[in-house]
Amino acid sequence: MAGLAAARELGRAGLSVCILEARERVGGRVFTVHDPACAVPIEQGAEFIHGRAREIWDPLEKAKIKVSEVEGDSWCISEGRLSSCDFFEEVDSILHKMDDSVPDESFSAFLQRRFGEPRTKAQREAQRHATSYVSGFNAADPALVGVNWLVQGMRAEERIQGDRAFRAENGYTALLTVFKDQVATFGADLRTETIVESVNWRERNVKVTAHNYRGSLMLEASKVLITVPLPVLKASARQSGAIRFTPQLPAQKVEALDKMEMGKVIRVVLRFRERFWESIKPSARSRKNLSGMGFLFSQSDWFPTWWTTMPEKSPVITAWAPFRSAERLSGQSEQFVTEHALQTLSDLLGPGVRELQGLLENSYFHDWQSDPFSLGAYSYGKVGSDGAQQAIAAPLENTVFFAGEATDTAGHNGTVHAAIASGYRAAKEILQSVERVNVVA
Ligand SMILES: Cc1cc2nc3c(=O)[nH]c(=O)nc-3n(C[C@H](O)[C@H](O)[C@H](O)COP(=O)(O)OP(=O)(O)OC[C@H]3O[C@@H](n4cnc5c(N)ncnc54)[C@H](O)[C@@H]3O)c2cc1C
Repeated sequence: MAGLAAARELGRAGLSVCILEARERVGGRVFTVHDPACAVPIEQGAEFIHGRAREIWDPLEKAKIKVSEVEGDSWCISEGRLSSCDFFEEVDSILHKMDDSVPDESFSAFLQRRFGEPRTKAQREAQRHATSYVSGFNAADPALVGVNWLVQGMRAEERIQGDRAFRAENGYTALLTVFKDQVATFGADLRTETIVESVNWRERNVKVTAHNYRGSLMLEASKVLITVPLPVLKASARQSGAIRFTPQLPAQKVEALDKMEMGKVIRVVLRFRERFWESIKPSARSRKNLSGMGFLFSQSDWFPTWWTTMPEKSPVITAWAPFRSAERLSGQSEQFVTEHALQTLSDLLGPGVRELQGLLENSYFHDWQSDPFSLGAYSYGKVGSDGAQQAIAAPLENTVFFAGEATDTAGHNGTVHAAIASGYRAAKEILQSVERVNVVA
């Protein structure tokens, strides 16, 4: 999305743009699958539109694409007991005690310093939920993620009503198509299945080598914009997908890259014949069943979080394994991942695994950690990461520019709107540098 957003702006301004994309499809971590047997789009990467960021809403509104707010009841399972969730306020109160005016520390260190060892069950539960939020939502290691980064993110979310979540009709593909079509209108040369290997540059001259199914190719340009994900930029030259820079990236940028980390997530989408959970109740006496379930939170080691497609009542449910759970599942076969998802669902909601297997029509899964062109899900800032995003984004001699969600400086790292905003920012930098050259010339 960062690359497409930038290409659109540069194309619109009349620059000649060539996009090199390693995969056979554009979109990167936006990856919607349309199964004709399924009424709803299946997201393998980004699914939710977090809040009302203009970068997403403006193009969707202009293209008259319908957007619906995510709805549904939140259910919790703790010690085998199903109940309505009541932890949100406590988690909120813990998170709002984070303070970025004191020296930065990890979320785990903050919990320990501010609250100490939990003395009551309620305190233990509240800390556990707060930690699960950080590792679940941010896909971050609580012992690494910086409080300053988390606070900046919370403030940024408040500015865009980030507590609300939406989905576009047809999924994220709808937004992708808007950008893709506009990029095509401006005549950009889009080459998929073209893996960039090296960038050799000096001021106002770049030679990019890449390979595709026909062999190697070399392209020359006056400027290049790099939008690969954080771990790909960090990858050592031997890793597939890695880009070799000559001269090497400056030490300041390398240090900044090290201050940002890639969160890990495995998600698997399960499509059943029917919404079997509709009739499930916390107990025989309960009046409410799970027919309105939006989210299900648990302490499962494999897939702690689940969600449905509410308000759309489809027989599709998503299993979410962040951080440690993702580490355990990454690199495993689709069969292994799906079996563990079914086993977890069975443990949580009751139906036997065989029954669930009988009801399962299809499952959809992409291992973002093992994919050499992402090497993880989305970025977060470690302790002491203040200013790291700016340093990663900083252009080199008005010749090599950088964009991508990890370069967002407004507190939105790890989202689609951050990627788009970074693309716009980089396009502006490129256009300004072109204007400067023209003035000098
Ligand atoms: C499972 C998952 C769930 C998510 N959920 C949400 C969500 O609900 N809401 C939200 O806002 N965000 C979500 N995100 C994050 C969001 O998808 C990303 O922040 C955003 O899409 C990143 O866009 P980008 O342009 O920065 O990077 P990418 O989309 O990763 O694009 C980088 C591109 O570079 C290409 N590339 C890599 N290496 C090379 C190379 N050597 N040569 C050529 N091309 C190369 C890649 O193929 C890719 O197309 C999720 C991500 C994942 C993985």
